Amino acid sequence: MRFDVLTLFPEIIESYCNVSIMKRAQKSSIFTVNTVNPRDFTIDKHKKVDDTPYGGGAGMVLMAQPYVDAYEFVEKSENSITIMLSPQGEPLDEKIVLDLSKYKQIIMLCGHYEGFDERIREIIKPREISIGDFVLTGGELPALCLIDAVSRKLEGTLGKIESAEYDSFSDGLLEYPQYTKPREYRGYKVPEVLLNGNHKDINEFRLNKQIERTKSRRPDLYRIYKDRNLLI
Ligand code: SAM
Repeated sequence: MRFDVLTLFPEIIESYCNVSIMKRAQKSSIFTVNTVNPRDFTIDKHKKVDDTPYGGGAGMVLMAQPYVDAYEFVEKSENSITIMLSPQGEPLDEKIVLDLSKYKQIIMLCGHYEGFDERIREIIKPREISIGDFVLTGGELPALCLIDAVSRKLEGTLGKIESAEYDSFSDGLLEYPQYTKPREYRGYKVPEVLLNGNHKDINEFRLNKQIERTKSRRPDLYRIYKDRNLLI
């Protein structure tokens, strides 16, 4: 898998991807992260990549030329998809993450300032993805969310020790509560059932906690889980 990120601030992407699990997985060639800066493609003599909006209004709009040229510069594999990070896109969820993990290459367009000249959308025709109903200053954090979430689905990114098998959403439920040493902290004890080594009891305890937690925190997810498992 290869991620190509079009960004005016490549250092944001690089700093996150060059530590911890992201760094290790890249070293093991599970995926690579490449950045392309549209500023390197502008034909403006002052290296401008943005300008004022036609029709008036606040802020600066990203110009089509540097973005389209930078996009065309990126070598495309047969099985690639282009994503524009945008608060106007489909909300990112686990299903989309899984779908994206099947591609060989994900090209991402990160906006900034007031966003993109509409012709970037018209020419490139990307799939638009939002990470939530709020507005950030740039597309770099959303791109990193996507890279991180998708890379967790690629075989080998997580060691056995960091398995995603029981992560929230993987089975339609939120994850059960986790505990580690010591057995007691400030009077709060680890539930007895987790200490007795009986895996049937542990699994039952965890599933009940998952259901309880999902029902109270995410009734929308619980309704889907209930219908799928024919619970009453
Ligand atoms: N004026 C734009 C609008 O209302 O749709 C918002 C522009 S925002 C300040 C700048 C850039 O940040 C966007 O082009 C996009 O790339 C990114 N961005 C901001 N919020 C986002 C979100 N919730 N999901 C994905 N990308 C987002």
